[in-house]
Amino acid sequence: MILPIVKYGHPVLRRKGAPIVDMTPDVLELIQDMLETMYDAAGVGLAAPQVGRPLQLTVLDVRAAENRPSTLELKGQPSDVAAFMPLTLINPVVKASGDPVPGPEGCLSFPEIYADILRPPSVEVTALNAAGDQIEFKAGGLLARAIQHEVDHLNGILFIDRMTIGAKAEVEDALKALQAATKASVRS
Ligand code: ZN
Repeated sequence: MILPIVKYGHPVLRRKGAPIVDMTPDVLELIQDMLETMYDAAGVGLAAPQVGRPLQLTVLDVRAAENRPSTLELKGQPSDVAAFMPLTLINPVVKASGDPVPGPEGCLSFPEIYADILRPPSVEVTALNAAGDQIEFKAGGLLARAIQHEVDHLNGILFIDRMTIGAKAEVEDALKALQAATKASVRS
């Protein structure tokens, strides 16, 4: 089922997600619905708070972004990114490393708003997958960026919080309009 995506201005986007303690049927259904919703919206990642569920859960799939490569290491060995997709991360712990590099980002909760964001180029991730098994991997490129963006969502952090003052000034009017529209729709 395709779920409505919560837009900027909705308070759930600022809540910290609760850890998932059991892989209940509800959680498994949420994962399937989030994947469907992400593909429908042509996103590379979607976090549970973006569908109104403040939980430590995000889904990703970078396969469609052919001109923005990703790297993956499993047990220290370079591995096939495509074969690792789609990726579900539950209760993820992320250690980012390397000097931050700029890269373009958008967000399904901020339609039509884009900016370059500085992030470390590499992440080491420990999480549970959709089967409830513990996974560990290292990622680079777009996948590292997308994971950091999504895991920020799980902590109530949004990409506008990481924009430079100049970049944020450029999107300020669009942000205000989006926030007002969201607040109006939440009230109605
Ligand atoms: Zn986002």
